[in-house]
Amino acid sequence: MILSNPKGTQDFLPPYGDQKALVENEFRKVVSLYGFSEIVNPTFEHTELYLRSTGLTTDIVTKQMYTFTDKGNRELALRPEGTPGVVRAVLQNKLKLPVRLFYIGPMFRYERPQKGRYREFFQLGVEVIGESEPETDVEIIEMGMRFFNQINLSDLIVKVNSVGCPICRPKFRVQLRLFLDKNLEQICDDCKIRVEQNPMRVFDCKVEKCKEIYHDAPKISDNLCYDCQNHFQAVLKELNERKIPFELDKMMVRGLDYYTRTAFEFVPTGSSELGSQDSVGGGGRYDNLVEDFGGPKTPAIGFALGLDRILICLGNALTSRKLVYIIALDAQALKQGRQLLDTLRNAEIPALINPPDKNLRAALGIADNLSCEYVIIIGANEMQKKVYTLKNLTQRSQQEIPQDKIVEVLSKK
Ligand SMILES: [Zn+2]
Ligand SMILES: [Zn+2]
Repeated sequence: MILSNPKGTQDFLPPYGDQKALVENEFRKVVSLYGFSEIVNPTFEHTELYLRSTGLTTDIVTKQMYTFTDKGNRELALRPEGTPGVVRAVLQNKLKLPVRLFYIGPMFRYERPQKGRYREFFQLGVEVIGESEPETDVEIIEMGMRFFNQINLSDLIVKVNSVGCPICRPKFRVQLRLFLDKNLEQICDDCKIRVEQNPMRVFDCKVEKCKEIYHDAPKISDNLCYDCQNHFQAVLKELNERKIPFELDKMMVRGLDYYTRTAFEFVPTGSSELGSQDSVGGGGRYDNLVEDFGGPKTPAIGFALGLDRILICLGNALTSRKLVYIIALDAQALKQGRQLLDTLRNAEIPALINPPDKNLRAALGIADNLSCEYVIIIGANEMQKKVYTLKNLTQRSQQEIPQDKIVEVLSKK
């Protein structure tokens, strides 16, 4: 038996499993304010779906996909990202447009594991299908910021750029190609391949030398067609008006083939656990993907946030375990304790009771192991005085509470 988890996966042990659920629930709350409904897609799809959407030249498809042939000889892939499955489901089920959908779930990419990067990782994502207005772009950026604020991760800025469209991009690509050919000797080997396959992707390169060179390269957002330019200006104006902290980043192109126009990333500032360069999520428009799938011309935009990275940034910030541990010291107290257990749970106060054979010391040890915030002790003395001894384990304090006031006291805490 193999007693370790596969490389690049993780167990969400207590309290992180709870923390993950808390973050997911905050996400649900915020996006529902903006009219999003939850969609749950399969975790695997036909491989072809990703080849046609995520893109044949992306690292995700060429290097990172978990693909397999099933017993019925179907070519399948564990989903490396959420958008293609959502768009597939919308088209297949002919959902009425416009539609606003969100998803929460695991994604799979064969990558070199590092801090905050796993082979099975979790994303919180949204897709707006059938809305073309720049206001929609800004609305979902604002929604992302509202969510981060809600979970107290407010040291963030949004990096924005426009990656153009199939009208302005071909012309730009020629210009960029000229620049790259001139600098071919100095760029890294990966970039040399990018020049052949998809020159715009060179901007994704993390090699310092390359970054320096591309600083002087022509940028897509300076070479937009009329419509893309108008759209981008409207987005920037609206971001300003809504006072959303953003930065124009002309080097940001996002690593997916289907993006058009607005692209953005949520990036922690200051001294975050991840360092200031790593984004905790991002997204953009994909106005041609629905059509590429054989659907009608339909504008769309979405984003995906990395839940694993968010949890690292948060540390223990959200864990609040209000568990109450009842310790009954004799048979009579145990009977009373079981009734109290019921009363507390009915009042939505999480509670447990100690096994009958444990003495006070052992029972307090269990309460400590369970990270309980409160302990209620019931012994002969308490039974006689009709009180409970309430111990606060974090503050190391204790007081006697009349039995009929205990729910009231704990509810206020
Ligand atoms: Zn354009
Ligand atoms: Zn490079």
